[in-house]
Amino acid sequence: MLNKTTKRYGEFGGQFAPEILMNALQNLETAIESLVNSSDFQQELSFLLQHYAGRPTALTEVKNFSRAIKGPRIFLKREDLLHTGAHKINNAIGQCLLAKKMGKSRVIAETGAGQHGLATATACAYLGLTAEIYMGTVDIKRQRPNVEKMQLLGAKVHAVDTGAKTLKDAVNEALRDWSANYNTTHYCLGSALGPYPFPQLVAKFQAIIGQEVKQQLLTLTQQLPQAVIACVGGGSNAIGIFQAFLDDPVQLIGIEAGGHGNQLGEHAARFLSGSPGVLHGCYTYLLQTEAGQIASTASISAGLDYPAVGPQHAYLHKNQRAYYTAVSDTEALTAFKLLSRTEGIIPALESSHALAYCMTIAHQFHPNDCLLINLSGRGDKDLPELLAKGLLS
Ligand SMILES: *Cc1c(COP(=O)(O)O)cnc(C)c1O
Repeated sequence: MLNKTTKRYGEFGGQFAPEILMNALQNLETAIESLVNSSDFQQELSFLLQHYAGRPTALTEVKNFSRAIKGPRIFLKREDLLHTGAHKINNAIGQCLLAKKMGKSRVIAETGAGQHGLATATACAYLGLTAEIYMGTVDIKRQRPNVEKMQLLGAKVHAVDTGAKTLKDAVNEALRDWSANYNTTHYCLGSALGPYPFPQLVAKFQAIIGQEVKQQLLTLTQQLPQAVIACVGGGSNAIGIFQAFLDDPVQLIGIEAGGHGNQLGEHAARFLSGSPGVLHGCYTYLLQTEAGQIASTASISAGLDYPAVGPQHAYLHKNQRAYYTAVSDTEALTAFKLLSRTEGIIPALESSHALAYCMTIAHQFHPNDCLLINLSGRGDKDLPELLAKGLLS
């Protein structure tokens, strides 16, 4: 599916980067081949994932939740149990370890809600690297606790005051920094996005989710799931779990943020009303205006609030190997509350989108069927904002 010569998945992906970045991207490609694919690296990475991040994560059958929605057997892959509370640490540890092996002492990253910034700052603190995180000033204001955590961990947070002052603008600044400093600096990109080889690199570090869960589920149930459901922001947790099932007779379902309406600017559902274009070095589905300007997006969950989607998802959509749809803010919030009350698990609002879709299709299945949901993160981070908006009463 990935063509390493064209650096694309079908027509999607590629390296739409300025000349000045091509050297950095080429060095990274070489490092992936020589370092990441070596057995030494893989051994060291698994050690860190096990003893620092908390892998393998549990697989939990949620019988009360299933009973409440009259569903079949439902299993959650518990990425919420990882250190820092989400799957992002899988990628952050992988890339920071790679940075260290490449002899880079400084790591930069972009962050929106702060979860990827936090994971990167964490991995850098542990591995003895300098972390500098780019974040829009609008996001800095609404995600104060994560800014304070990053600073506590020794990271420097750079306020980005250009454009919409959110994630997209933070990526622009990080790319600018990287093109000037790639001799000393690695850019730890947070999702399966951006110019090649980032989509491939991030998917590689998240593949552990699918590898683990396939074995766990087969051991528990002796069967494959009917469907695997994951939320899709940039697409890293989804591709992480989908990969292991690509060649199996299993439905792969990606859930985007339906926000609060169907108009451009009210959601982040790239496959609903987006069209192919180039953003941040990559040809993929984007939310854009008729004139090709990047549209604004909206979602109750900051992690899904981004105008582009990873190129491998664009390819899986085009080939109809995976199905993509969206659920609204309200539906996600209902699922958020139901899982908390029935199972004692507070899901991230992002992951709640996958749970919400499961609620709408559950009745279509036989009681012995299995549905597998990737619980990408925990919801503690979402409580302050939900409380402030009065959405939990
Ligand atoms: C960042 C985030 C996401 C969205 O990112 P993907 O790259 O699409 O996985 C989903 N869930 C949680 C908990 C996140 O922090």
